[in-house]
Amino acid sequence: MSWNRVIGQKQQVRVLSNALEKGRLAHAYLFSGPEGSGKEMTALELAAALNCRSPDAMSNGACGTCPDCLQIREFMHPNVEYLFPVEAALLEGGDSQKKDNKKFTEARERFLALIEKKKENPYFSPAMDRSMGILTEQVVALQQKASFMPREGTRKVFIISQAEKLHPSAANKLLKLLEEPPAHVLFVLVTARPDSLLATIRSRCQEIRFQRVPAAELRTWLEEHSPEIVDPELGFIVNFSRGNLKLAWELIAGRDEASSEPATIAIRQMALDYLRKVLAPKRFHEALTASEEHAKNLSRTELVLFIGAILLFLQDTCHRRIVPGFRNLNNPDITDAVDRFAKNFPNPDYLGVSTLAEESIRAIERNASPLLVMAAFTAALRPLLWRA
Ligand SMILES: [Zn+2]
Repeated sequence: MSWNRVIGQKQQVRVLSNALEKGRLAHAYLFSGPEGSGKEMTALELAAALNCRSPDAMSNGACGTCPDCLQIREFMHPNVEYLFPVEAALLEGGDSQKKDNKKFTEARERFLALIEKKKENPYFSPAMDRSMGILTEQVVALQQKASFMPREGTRKVFIISQAEKLHPSAANKLLKLLEEPPAHVLFVLVTARPDSLLATIRSRCQEIRFQRVPAAELRTWLEEHSPEIVDPELGFIVNFSRGNLKLAWELIAGRDEASSEPATIAIRQMALDYLRKVLAPKRFHEALTASEEHAKNLSRTELVLFIGAILLFLQDTCHRRIVPGFRNLNNPDITDAVDRFAKNFPNPDYLGVSTLAEESIRAIERNASPLLVMAAFTAALRPLLWRA
């Protein structure tokens, strides 16, 4: 049944499916845990189980094929509300006169584009660029929707994505709802940063903590879901995404089936060429030029991959340096290159490289200028690798 769509998180699913079967669901849950661990996927499956037409949905999970299940996957089910940070222009279309205005129409298009993206990648967290967070008007609309009863035998489910972005006044409105929750409504708040929530909201929810998906489970899932992906690409996706399904999904979706070489492996090759330039005493200017070109030509996701590939490679060299026969490498297909590096550069500052890479990735993800980040990365990387 469709609980199987949730990857890993066995304990978490067991808690929920037991509560569902025994009719003992809490009124409000807080799904916390790292990005890409499947919190929203689980929330949607729970919503589906509560609204599915299959007679054994409560005991076995949603069928995944009935009209209700399909509507939920399309984000069109009348019982399921999915909230995420939107821009104010979207909410100004309340009366018909304003509804015609251009600002609203454009905001609506951006909103629908995000929903489409969410349908393509169930691990994606949508948020509109010009958003101030989840707004009061959105929670007021929930309040109104809560006042209508759902069809008999079903339950409304309000899923609040990125709950840490609730605007303070929206959070207070939501708190009122949580204090006297209507029996026919289930709230699921989702966040990767539970500490940023109001303590009063948190205390009203039963918290379920999600974990990063272990590498072995991610590999098994990938083998079943995308059998066309094989090693070394498969290994790269597993290692690079580090249990983050959102990342893994992006890597799969970004694959160019027509190209002879998988994009991930091509980027790894680019990263290793670049690394060679960084390390060669007289080619540093080439490294800078290469970093500039990559910053211009690669997308943000690809740049993150690029830096990630360097990190994974250096991790391998560190392992082989400490344990020469170490087998569980991120890049088992290029062991020679790993060993050569480990021999020629015996003393890099691995901790420094790791911190630098993580910071650069974060900066790129937060819309910093790729050119500046890559130049700074290149300049800082060299002394970390060239330690006497
Ligand atoms: Zn169904």
